[in-house]
Amino acid sequence: MLILMCDSFDATLPEKLSRFGEVTKDMERLPEAHVALIRSKTTADKAFIDKCKNLKLIIRGGVGLDNVDRAHAESKGVIVKNTPEASSIAVAELAFAMMTSASSRIVEAHNSMVAGKWLKKELTRTELFGKTLGLYGLGRIAREVAKRALVFGMDVVAFDPYLPDDVFASTGVRRAATREELFAQAQYLSLHTPLTDETRGMLNKKTLSEMKKGVVIVNTCRGKVIVEEDMKAALDEGQVGAYCTDVWYNDPPQNSPLLQSTKCLFSPHIGASTKENLLRIGEQIEQIVGLLAQNKL
Ligand code: NAD
Repeated sequence: MLILMCDSFDATLPEKLSRFGEVTKDMERLPEAHVALIRSKTTADKAFIDKCKNLKLIIRGGVGLDNVDRAHAESKGVIVKNTPEASSIAVAELAFAMMTSASSRIVEAHNSMVAGKWLKKELTRTELFGKTLGLYGLGRIAREVAKRALVFGMDVVAFDPYLPDDVFASTGVRRAATREELFAQAQYLSLHTPLTDETRGMLNKKTLSEMKKGVVIVNTCRGKVIVEEDMKAALDEGQVGAYCTDVWYNDPPQNSPLLQSTKCLFSPHIGASTKENLLRIGEQIEQIVGLLAQNKL
């Protein structure tokens, strides 16, 4: 079996997988590969899949499968798997870190000190305690964010039309029946939906105008769920107080208007990139490749 590692994984993974076959990072060998391992950098689109003559399995180490043409892969008999459970804590911790950084103005405080300034009077912080956090989507990552927010004394409300009431009840999160209801309440809004036809561009001029003035928005799901130009305008007008994002239209962002805003906090798509999570992803990949090797997939 030839296992092709298209993207970066934990450094111990090649050795772990070597018991199942040859492991390579040489993309020239894509046509021969039986297993392709990708994260978010590689797009397994039609052209990628059509280059493969032997491919049996694509594993996306991570959650979203929006960079895999799953229908085309499956039409050619290629199994598509991901590792959806692995990343929840890693991403939730980044979302929470962004929220606390924004409320405590950590970046401005640090940068001003480095610039030789002492802004003790100017840098008034705000507390998360007692504020309302809105979660757009209440899946695995959002539930981890909710746990942390509740411990901080926040009131947590979520909009997720695909979940039954008992999920809300078991997490201590109030249910918003509509997204308008969510927007009307959230002082902080954290985005946790997949990228689908329904969620693409869901934060736009109209929906941003329905939110509470000064809302702080945290995006660790996908860049394309917002319309960047509309977000930049809402930041300039003060309708949105801050936009914290780990995710972009493209990695890395090219000509994003948001890069010109001083009301943003950025990270380079590192939500899943904790040491612990890369190990967990590696363990799950090892299990899936093991099942393929035993013809049990
Ligand atoms: P999940 O599948 O557990 O949860 C997604 C939730 O969104 C589900 O409960 C679903 O019902 C809900 N949902 C779907 N469409 C919706 C809509 N239109 N309106 C409201 N809710 C909707 O997924 P997860 O593990 O929580 O991950 C969420 C997303 O986070 C992934 O799809 C991925 O795009 C992103 N992600 C980003 C990183 C990163 O590095 N920043 C890492 C992992 C995942």
